[in-house]
Amino acid sequence: MSTTAIPFLDLKASNAQYREQLLRACERVIDSGWYVLGREVQAFEQAFAEYCGVKHAIGVSNGLDALHLILRAMDIGAGDEVIVPSNTYIATWLAVTQAGATPVPVEPDDSYNLDPSRIEAAITPRTKAIIAVHLYGQPADMVAIMALAERHGLKVIEDAAQAHGALDAGRRTGGLGHAAGFSFYPGKNLGALGDGGAVTTNDDALAERVRMLANYGSRVKYQHEQQGYNCRLDEMQAALLAVKLPHLDADIAHRRQIADFYQHELAGLPLVLPKVRAGAEPVWHLFVVQSERRDALQQALATAGIGTLIHYPVPPHRQGAYAELNLPEGSLPVAEAIHRQVLSLPMGPTLTLEHAAVVVQACRDFFAKG
Ligand SMILES: *Cc1c(COP(=O)(O)O)cnc(C)c1O
Repeated sequence: MSTTAIPFLDLKASNAQYREQLLRACERVIDSGWYVLGREVQAFEQAFAEYCGVKHAIGVSNGLDALHLILRAMDIGAGDEVIVPSNTYIATWLAVTQAGATPVPVEPDDSYNLDPSRIEAAITPRTKAIIAVHLYGQPADMVAIMALAERHGLKVIEDAAQAHGALDAGRRTGGLGHAAGFSFYPGKNLGALGDGGAVTTNDDALAERVRMLANYGSRVKYQHEQQGYNCRLDEMQAALLAVKLPHLDADIAHRRQIADFYQHELAGLPLVLPKVRAGAEPVWHLFVVQSERRDALQQALATAGIGTLIHYPVPPHRQGAYAELNLPEGSLPVAEAIHRQVLSLPMGPTLTLEHAAVVVQACRDFFAKG
């Protein structure tokens, strides 16, 4: 049993870096007497839009609601089909079914993201949109996906919950499709101290519809033009996010350093390492390896005091929640194989290279034992 405890992600340490600024932001909000839809949200929305290089950012309650609001604002619902990755967090699918539409899964390529060459076969006369997830922090092939969508008259929604600041062909996520949904769940690369999310878009009309739907279907107080939702980001979370946003690029640079170290030091072991697509600049929300001996490797690392997670152990189509879709084991073999073999190594803004070296050594020791 090792004494080195290396958590998968140390949220406490990462927020402790900004403790004084976070406390001052809390005080400012408490003393303002204004807690919903005010100056803090407005200021954060402006800063986040600028960061993403888009015209509009709308603060919302969480990442799932961000995606759901986009679909509703696009009038996508009952009878419509939306193409989704077979390999994603279930929220991507839930946004589609909450809107009343049907998710149509498409398998990934070896970047773990939607394989553009498989999308066309999934398009039917009912298809309205594609949700491209930038999984594990690597942007999907948005140039190919947008070209394909244009040919078929489809909307493209980015699920950017894991990819704040990632670049595809030199452009930041959030502005690569028609609209994007972000999550500020505490463990995401830009994390609130609670739930939060944002919708980004360059489309003025869509931005206004999302804003209206997120606030009870109302543009003018007590006038409700649509049956909307209560999906607002609150002032406190916006103020805390505004403290953390200026540090995001430094965090990303740190994650890249750790990822480069893992890539270099783990090469040669019987592990499938992440493949970075040409033109993609990932932000390494997760560093995901694959092994046929995944469970034993995870156990060995745990014994050495190293925390790992599996993203994700069961693909959406094999969850009880989607039994109704009747997609049996074997129907999406690429995603199923990924879910059996993936393991996420420790990664985060406060993980040191020394700790990463301990992780590498533990992997080497595991495979040396055979
Ligand atoms: C976290 C996540 C979401 C949902 O975000 P919440 O803020 O938890 O609702 C959606 N999609 C992906 C890919 C995610 O990782």
